[in-house]
Amino acid sequence: MNVHEYQGKEILRKYGVATPRGIACFSVDEAVKAAEELGGKVWVVKAQIHAGGRGKGGGVKVAKSIDEVRQYATQILGMTLVTIQTGTEGRLVKRLLVEEGADIKKELYVGMVVDRATQRVTLMCSSEGGMDIEHVAEATPEKIFKMGIDPATGLTDAQGDEMSRKIGVPEVAVPQARGFMQSLYKAFDETDCSLAEINPLIYTGDNKVLALDAKLNFDSNALYRHPEIVAMRDLDEEDPAEIEASKFDLAYISLDGDIGCLVNGAGLAMATMDVIKLYGGSPANFLDVGGGATTEKVTEAFKIMLKNPHLKAILVNIFGGIMKCDVIANGVIAAAREVKLSVPLVVRMKGTNEELGRQILKDSGLPIISANNMAEAAERVVAAAKEHAAKGTK
Ligand code: GDP
Ligand code: MN
Repeated sequence: MNVHEYQGKEILRKYGVATPRGIACFSVDEAVKAAEELGGKVWVVKAQIHAGGRGKGGGVKVAKSIDEVRQYATQILGMTLVTIQTGTEGRLVKRLLVEEGADIKKELYVGMVVDRATQRVTLMCSSEGGMDIEHVAEATPEKIFKMGIDPATGLTDAQGDEMSRKIGVPEVAVPQARGFMQSLYKAFDETDCSLAEINPLIYTGDNKVLALDAKLNFDSNALYRHPEIVAMRDLDEEDPAEIEASKFDLAYISLDGDIGCLVNGAGLAMATMDVIKLYGGSPANFLDVGGGATTEKVTEAFKIMLKNPHLKAILVNIFGGIMKCDVIANGVIAAAREVKLSVPLVVRMKGTNEELGRQILKDSGLPIISANNMAEAAERVVAAAKEHAAKGTK
């Protein structure tokens, strides 16, 4: 789960991570009031969306007067902000963060991520922070330093100091930078983050270290431990199909291809997407209906997939272990009838009662394409999707 920058900073402040003072706003008047309340001479007006690259997209503006705050807030609030992370359709800006301006001497980068290979949190830092970090990672990866954090000790003083020096924090600010990284790790650890990214981390003209931006990502499997973070969820920023799927306890992730997949088991779902790719197709989604899929769940899954305007075909790939294939076949037929299937449907079933299941599909009179194995299923669904697409363009 993602949160907005202002929410991330709120969480980080509780752990002693230094950030500029700021106020979240939902209207231009609120933004003006916020700037007056913060005081000072320079403010930053920042679009709050769950996507990075806002600076380059025109979603971050430095204002030198209250009038400019009003002007930028008017401009940004309600704009469709297109950034390298939003896709071409962009994201409607509904919230702003107004912050006191910072005197940036240098922009650095600090990130933390769970590294499955080492089973530790990896601290990643660079002296080349700011809006071009992706380019730095690509062109000069040697400028990004990495360090594993031992969960038993946390980030040690020695590690914090070493990292701070590696990224060129001036000597007077090293203790502060070390403390910053340690607080960030504590926040990461205690709130069950899967990713934390401070880009830029800055040091100021008077050698203070501050988080100018904050991106936090939380492990959704641990959210039950953090109701205060769940309360920060902004459904406007999430994929409607994924929200709908979560209501029915379906593990669904939208993808940009055109072949819908309905599978039981996450491993089989991933293998299904791979085999679709192998045969030259592209999956429209990941979907694991789980072990105990009912007709209702399968019907909802079909409905969600069919809402996708790019959908050209559906592949149902089921292993009937505890679930029997005849039960699944009946579920698929009931669902297909209810949703008035508008795209070709390929079904591959394996396991208990598979013969019976196939017979039920055949007898249904529905134009269901049967397949005996995964390769055949993929081949057929890719062909069916192409044929359907060709029909659509005539
Ligand atoms: P992102 O583009 O979505 O990652 O948004 P950021 O929060 O990182 O802001 C983009 C850029 O705006 C930063 O890299 C800074 O250069 C600039 N910026 C952000 N806050 C301030 C500020 O308080 N003062 C000044 N001068 N620049 C800022
Ligand atoms: Mn940033």
